[in-house]
Amino acid sequence: MTFRSGRHFLQIPGPTNVPDRVLRAMDRPTIDHRGPDFAQLGREVLEGIKLVFRTSSPVIIYPASGTGAWEAALVNTLCTGDRVLMAETGQFATLWQKLATRLGLTVDFIPGDWRHGADVEMIELKLAEDRSHTIKAVCVVHNETSTGVVSRIPLVRKALDRTSHPALLLVDTISSLGSIDYRHDEWGVDVTVAGSQKGLMLPPGLSFNAISTKALAAAKTAGLPRSYFSWDEMLGPNKSGFFPYTPATNLLYGLREALHMLHEEGLDNVFARHARHGEATRRAVRAWGLEILCADPADYSNALTAVLLPSGQDADKVRKIILERFDMSLGAGLGKLQGKIFRIGHLGDFNDLTLAGTLCGVEMGLQLAGVPIRKEGVAAALDYLSHAGEQAIGNPARVRIA
Ligand SMILES: *Cc1c(COP(=O)(O)O)cnc(C)c1O
Repeated sequence: MTFRSGRHFLQIPGPTNVPDRVLRAMDRPTIDHRGPDFAQLGREVLEGIKLVFRTSSPVIIYPASGTGAWEAALVNTLCTGDRVLMAETGQFATLWQKLATRLGLTVDFIPGDWRHGADVEMIELKLAEDRSHTIKAVCVVHNETSTGVVSRIPLVRKALDRTSHPALLLVDTISSLGSIDYRHDEWGVDVTVAGSQKGLMLPPGLSFNAISTKALAAAKTAGLPRSYFSWDEMLGPNKSGFFPYTPATNLLYGLREALHMLHEEGLDNVFARHARHGEATRRAVRAWGLEILCADPADYSNALTAVLLPSGQDADKVRKIILERFDMSLGAGLGKLQGKIFRIGHLGDFNDLTLAGTLCGVEMGLQLAGVPIRKEGVAAALDYLSHAGEQAIGNPARVRIA
């Protein structure tokens, strides 16, 4: 590998750039995870992470990628053969559905066009039809990272309530937690699945299940085999800050620091910052004359933007040129979108100039790849950033998480 000066721009929608403060916090000796010092760290992160989920219920922390927490949510609450309702929002919803099928669940997968959020009307219809309550869980991806589309979880909750259906609500927030407004308790979610390497600004390797009282009760009778991911095994030792097996100690140091950072900025300001950068990016895409993949402005993701290229243009070629020339990684089109889109990640440790640099790289790369664009995207974004939406920094009225 040849030397490249300056810093690499990691603008994929996860893993995201890890801030120096988090890197420094992890650069410490690993301690005895059964010793008294660990208990303090364990209690601090297990308590602190609840604020980010906006829950007062227990949150489990696994030394696993997000996929592990997907599996955990299902095996702790369901029985072999149980019917679950899932919505095809994109590649991640498709992968969760495959995982559920492999575990022996019967998945009713509501089709989607990968440009809209979950089809809530169809969810409600299926729930209403299910008078004998054979559907045991509704599973929705909050922020579909493959498309840049957000599903409206409060509406899914309403569909369950309006039909008085007792199914559990399981939500994947792997790429939205800590970047897009999310409320586990208020929205009546039973299991929220999350990961460390996106909005939480950590390296990959941790994942989470926030658990409602109803989900905990379901776990008592759930029959799917489980051992490593068993909530029961975790909840006992967690009470005193410990884990049943070796936790990812150094990642937990990083998590403690990331929680401090989110607390210092204030969660609402974190969301406002992401909203601002999402809007600036969308203005750039429109000014280039390109299309945003998300077809409904109400469902735009503030964590990433998927950009659809005109037919005949190869998005992977654009990404390759940008990586080689400007040392920036952009997200690829996944599944059936491969080569058709690229994804700009604007989540995590991010400010106006990070976004400006990112959009400059994209604009230059598009031109070099021969994609017909107007060279007005960066200008449109800069105009928005400098004139609209006051930066949360220095704003005395900013709200804190607490
Ligand atoms: C990244 C991501 C996943 C997969 O998580 P891993 O950590 O790669 O296992 C699942 N769902 C969504 C929405 C994601 O963004």
